[in-house]
Amino acid sequence: MTNPDLKTRRANLSPIQYAVTQEGQTERPFTGAYWDEHGEGTYRCVVCGEPLFDSGTKFESGTGWPSFYDVIEKGHVTTKEDRSLGMLRTEVNCGHCGAHLGHLFPDGPDPTGMRYCINSAALDFAPLDDQGGKAET
Ligand SMILES: [Zn+2]
Repeated sequence: MTNPDLKTRRANLSPIQYAVTQEGQTERPFTGAYWDEHGEGTYRCVVCGEPLFDSGTKFESGTGWPSFYDVIEKGHVTTKEDRSLGMLRTEVNCGHCGAHLGHLFPDGPDPTGMRYCINSAALDFAPLDDQGGKAET
């Protein structure tokens, strides 16, 4: 499925959003918009709007990045091996547009034991109150 808006959306990203989602960079901890966000709602891909994480799986990791122990639905998020920076890590990407989101670590809480460590800059938080309509054009 191709989305003709994707090109436009990528062009309209802020510098940090672009650096994270398109170049795989990582925002500095405690600088993002959502590491301390506690509202109920859905975290969507900032590029394509795909629902990625639910606020119900967000937890306090103390890392300074939004952390989730599970994805909103299987397939919405994909993972792959990342050997950059001399480390073996698991990269987390948007299953729809391929945007870099963050990394996955096996040290999360129950019930999954996983920690999706995600950059705020890769996310667009849609509060529960706004779910009825489309928040973006
Ligand atoms: Zn996406």
